[in-house]
Amino acid sequence: MPDAEVTTDPPICPFAACNAADNRDVVGRGRDFLYGTTAEETEIVRCPTCGIWHLAAVPDERSMAIIYPPNYYAFSDSTAEPRLVKLVRDRLERAKIRRYRQHLPERPIRVLDIGCGDGRLLDIFRRHAPKDWELSGIEISGAAAEAARAKGFEVLRGDLMAVDTSAWEGRFDLVLMHQVIEHVRESRRAVRKVRTLMGEGGIFSVETPSTDAWDARLFRRRYWGGYHLPRHFYLFTKESLARLLNENGFEVFISQPILSPVLWIHSFHNAFADHAGLKGVARWFHQHNVPLLGLFTALDGLLIAVTGKSSNQRMLARKTD
Ligand SMILES: [Zn+2]
Repeated sequence: MPDAEVTTDPPICPFAACNAADNRDVVGRGRDFLYGTTAEETEIVRCPTCGIWHLAAVPDERSMAIIYPPNYYAFSDSTAEPRLVKLVRDRLERAKIRRYRQHLPERPIRVLDIGCGDGRLLDIFRRHAPKDWELSGIEISGAAAEAARAKGFEVLRGDLMAVDTSAWEGRFDLVLMHQVIEHVRESRRAVRKVRTLMGEGGIFSVETPSTDAWDARLFRRRYWGGYHLPRHFYLFTKESLARLLNENGFEVFISQPILSPVLWIHSFHNAFADHAGLKGVARWFHQHNVPLLGLFTALDGLLIAVTGKSSNQRMLARKTD
């Protein structure tokens, strides 16, 4: 429905520190180059106080059905991925499970994946984490939540902020929120809600784009893959993300850049898709294009080695008392 109208709400400062609706420092401007759900242009502004980048106007609840099309990749069937992509993802996630275990006690761990999709990450945990770990998820898409349930995971269907999680309070030892916080309307409330679901000393793993990267600057005026317009509402640096967690009941103990070949692919895709004569080229810049994934993984690895930064970041934080 490219002509459906996206209606908006004013932005909300993730730190409840300033009036985000007053921010006028425009960083970039673009549209939904990836899915074409709306032809409307969206502005990204920077908060001079907090340093975060956010949409000047945030699509409201009613517009979610427009900006998240049925074929949205996070909802779709992960079995459609090329074998090699799956294999690489598997290896990377296995390494992360080893890392989580270094910070968790030796007992059955209760894991919650927020935005679990069809259970692709939980599935990796099932194969590579100890067998007695309990794996649960929250997922907004009904079809994806059903697919995850069919695989045997306990899944609550709904928006993190709206779903009734009272039965899960204080339950989890490890909460994963990967590539989700940037989509959330009220980041501060979301972090606080996650905290209520966690047991004493629980670990919160957050992954989200980082605006403090070479390619974010290079493409920021219009095409940066990290914008994902208009679906990424709030974008952080490592400083502002740490602040969000530290101010809301967590203590960050690991913060690092992560390889993000897909954001590079999307940046180039967006640039080509914006030019009528180059739409054919844009189609090649797809996140399942294995040679491109390899190329941009190498480039991003080099940039991380040289600059210590990339367009994506991970943070581990422990719940404080
Ligand atoms: Zn601010």
